[in-house]
Amino acid sequence: MSTPEKKPGSNFIRTIVNEDNASGKHAGRVHTRFPPEPNGYLHVGHAKSICLNFGLAKEYQGLCNLRFDDTNPVSEDPEFVKSIQADVKWLGFDWEDRLFHASDYFQQFYDYAEQLIKAGKAYVESLSADEIRTYRGTLTEPGKPSPYRDRSVAENLDLFRRMKAGEFADGTHIVRAKIDMASPNINMRDPAIYRIRKAEHHTTGNAWCIYPMYDYAHCISDALEKITHSICTLEFEDHRPLYDWFLDQLGFHQPRPQQIEFARLDLSYTITSKRKLKALVEEQHVSGWDDPRMPTISGMRRRGYPPAAVRDFCERIGVAKAANIVDMGVLEFCVREDLEKRAGRVLGVLNPIKIVIEDYPEGKVETIEAPFHPQDPTLGTRQVPFSRELYIEADDFMEEAPKGYFRMVPGGEVRLRNAYIVKCKEVIKDAHGAIVELRCSHDPETLGKNPTDGRKVKGIIHWVSASHSLPAEVRLYDRLYTVANPGNVKDGEHTDYLNPSSLVVMAKARVEPSLRTATPDQRFQFERLGYFCTDRDSTPEKLVFNRVVSLRDTYGKDQQKS
Ligand code: ATP
Ligand code: MG
Repeated sequence: MSTPEKKPGSNFIRTIVNEDNASGKHAGRVHTRFPPEPNGYLHVGHAKSICLNFGLAKEYQGLCNLRFDDTNPVSEDPEFVKSIQADVKWLGFDWEDRLFHASDYFQQFYDYAEQLIKAGKAYVESLSADEIRTYRGTLTEPGKPSPYRDRSVAENLDLFRRMKAGEFADGTHIVRAKIDMASPNINMRDPAIYRIRKAEHHTTGNAWCIYPMYDYAHCISDALEKITHSICTLEFEDHRPLYDWFLDQLGFHQPRPQQIEFARLDLSYTITSKRKLKALVEEQHVSGWDDPRMPTISGMRRRGYPPAAVRDFCERIGVAKAANIVDMGVLEFCVREDLEKRAGRVLGVLNPIKIVIEDYPEGKVETIEAPFHPQDPTLGTRQVPFSRELYIEADDFMEEAPKGYFRMVPGGEVRLRNAYIVKCKEVIKDAHGAIVELRCSHDPETLGKNPTDGRKVKGIIHWVSASHSLPAEVRLYDRLYTVANPGNVKDGEHTDYLNPSSLVVMAKARVEPSLRTATPDQRFQFERLGYFCTDRDSTPEKLVFNRVVSLRDTYGKDQQKS
């Protein structure tokens, strides 16, 4: 019997697996699957499901399949198939040779449906969709049997075969399981198992014009793949009796897959509905599925979230039976914690103003060797050029500063990170009163050293050399929505609550020259500003950086800078 590799925090799914292993139910096998429908890009909720399914398999030395639940040809697309595979790989999981499609089993689904019809357990329904709804009853009233419910086996078989042969138009007939129209569980009131859809399928082309319904196809796919634990979200709890009914009727005996439901992940200030995410893309509220503000896996990747941080997040939030909304801050905490250890420190200025060190010789350049990380020498060092003309952050200077402001003020001293202590001597302004530059002096004895006379300089600010630094566009991201639960607003549409400042572009930023060759999978801390990575729009001519995450929660602070 397999035992867990490590001892992660317990959850009710691990408890079930441990009990099954103890009783020998599946002979110690753990075999899960991740079953996305290729009708959109995966989001952070799917990341949780991926970590859970692949993670559980790994922990118990089991297996996890990737299965495309492609039973609805109308909404599915090879673009999504491709992106889903890339996303699972990026998260660090591997399905090895176990990539499956529900469409691999279309013939088996069909044969099993004939088997149900022959056993008197399914029939062809010819009522319209509206009539079916009326006959179905409500939560408080039982349904009533369709006039077609007692068709003979021969008639049902004939009609089903003719449905398959393409003799009927979409919507004229469906096949229903014959269970119980009076069941208190509406899912058991003769659910549909096949419908006519004259549409081309992304893997089977035009071979089929009838397609199985999700509830019917899913349990059979699980059983055919010998899945042991079929983990899904809570909304399928009421479908579990149906899952078991199909497997019972079709002779899949124990040990067979067990459906286990857990609460879906919802994250504050964003949405985890494929339909709504699609609307954001199609209505161009964002630049695409991988817009760094999107909660999609491709968005998180482009934003610069490390996959290890996303996995850590999924483990930390745990698995529960009760629905809840997880604070976005938890995800960002995990990202910061990961980057704090690994990201090299560099200097970048988002909103530059020029300073001129008057007593530093013109044309002189000193190259300062600065470590990438204050605690981790293995990250190495880089060369930072210092010269007479520099840029500092506009925010780091105030003409009339309040008490407790330790950055640059007229007549005050401040340390330039890794370099000298400088003093602001004069503020040069244009005709409108806007600051053009600051004239400063420096203390030549203080390159990386404290002053010898014991005077204290509290403030440290970041800077870059004016002529050596590289121009860059820096994109600052804030929450996508202004309300904590945009998926569930009382008035209007979720799009009415989009945050107009969710993207602030700092078009005139300057960064230190070591960033010339940065690649998108490298992340940096721009000192005092946050964590950044290059965007895929970045070129050697025009560097573009994304802010992965700020150093602390600074929501709503960026619009003041733009
Ligand atoms: P839909 O079925 O409406 O297209 P979906 O989000 O359920 O949308 P699927 O492709 O069916 O998308 O999901 C694949 C798997 O991911 C399913 O097992 C589903 O339960 C799981 N999943 C989807 N959304 C979440 C979520 N927010 N939290 C956790 N798991 C999720
Ligand atoms: Mg689904």
